[in-house]
Amino acid sequence: MENLRTYTGKNVKPDKARPYANHHQFLIIGGGTGGITAAAQLKKKLKKPDIAIIEPSDVHYYQPMWTFNGAGVFDKEKSKKLMKDIMPNDVAWIKDYVVAFHPEQNIVETECGTFYSYEFLVVAPGIQVDWDAIPGLAENIGTKGICSIYAYNQVDYVHECIHMLKEGRALFTQPNTKFKCGGAPQKIMYLSSDSWKNSGALHDIDVTFTSAGSVIFGVPEIAEALQPVIKRYGIDVKLLHNLKEIKADEKIAVYDIMKDGKPVDEMEIEYDMLHVTPPMSSPDFIKNSPLADSEGWVDVDKHSLQHKKYPNIFSLGDAGSTPNAKTGAAVRKQAPVVTGNLASLQKEGKIDENFIYDGYGSCPLITGYNKLILAEFDYENKMTPSFPFNQAKERRSMYHMKKDLLPMIYWQGMLKGRA
Ligand code: FAD
Repeated sequence: MENLRTYTGKNVKPDKARPYANHHQFLIIGGGTGGITAAAQLKKKLKKPDIAIIEPSDVHYYQPMWTFNGAGVFDKEKSKKLMKDIMPNDVAWIKDYVVAFHPEQNIVETECGTFYSYEFLVVAPGIQVDWDAIPGLAENIGTKGICSIYAYNQVDYVHECIHMLKEGRALFTQPNTKFKCGGAPQKIMYLSSDSWKNSGALHDIDVTFTSAGSVIFGVPEIAEALQPVIKRYGIDVKLLHNLKEIKADEKIAVYDIMKDGKPVDEMEIEYDMLHVTPPMSSPDFIKNSPLADSEGWVDVDKHSLQHKKYPNIFSLGDAGSTPNAKTGAAVRKQAPVVTGNLASLQKEGKIDENFIYDGYGSCPLITGYNKLILAEFDYENKMTPSFPFNQAKERRSMYHMKKDLLPMIYWQGMLKGRA
């Protein structure tokens, strides 16, 4: 293997047995937030790059909107666009699903049985939602008061559950795995609580938040800022509670009580409405590939985002091994690093040490209709505020930025390689 920080482009041409049409200079896996942003930026940085994206879906989702959709703000249709309409011009869209990697030969294999060779590979297939990992979840989601904002086709039922609940217990869960948008399980809870507060139902509803984690939020300043919010809605917070089963007919959630990372006890909680943030993991085809680290994520350097073993492979977004919060906001900061390093590798044969990702993640914590705490932080959970005011404070202006401005910045800026 060559020096990790340089790459001379050896062995990148397809062999004679494979048609030339299947070779691309830049091959991107996934047409989600990371894949489209990377393609759009590469187009701006290089002269006529040959880029192809392998993406099986006909639609592209702006997933952060699902929290609002679940809370009845915006129709869920607004969260999606046709893939063909957001694909950057002159980027080939291969509508297929990658099933295997052959990084020593610079080849990926798809479900249709086609092999694609590349000079440089960007891996951005997102995170896998493991609905089957909790007995009782996959078969009952969308019925019997069990709901989740973690799927486009489930968000309407979340809204229905919030609207229908007039008394009893509303239970919100957070898993013991990595998952996308660390704040979303709480955001939907605060929005639900605010809705019940406004309708007067909150008097008769017990809101309970269970998390497998040991703190309400990883950034101490934000965890502290959330305390008055939790108090305002009278939320019962139960930490180190890991949902392990749902008895849907009895409306009972079964938990492991955790200590030092191990279950030490079991507990059942009755509910009337259950909002589940499901366990998630790296996509199976990544886990089972030579690209994976010991936990299954694409094994990249946390600052350069270059693969630790294969220098012509990069990853951004939720599938990468970088220990940041898995958010679209992180992708926005990762994309210039990946594309800057790729452009440098392509032109100079080495990555540019000026392109460094510091672990930036952002979590706009919606704490009610018209209220938001904007958490921004790096690998060390140190606050990295974008605005010159105290962000650990609920603000109406930040709510409107999240609701009205960010979707526009996403569709018109980020996906076009501008933001
Ligand atoms: P994705 O955008 O999920 O895209 C992955 C793409 O890869 C998909 O199009 C998929 O079809 C494709 N793919 C999968 N497998 C294969 C395969 N085998 N071959 C080819 N293609 C494949 N982020 C924020 O910044 N702020 C928020 O407020 C926020 N809120 C959120 C709320 C919810 C409810 C959810 C679900 C997410 C939220 N996020 C938020 C997270 C954000 O949406 C993700 O972090 C971001 O989309 C990750 O980008 P990605 O490119 O890694 O994955």
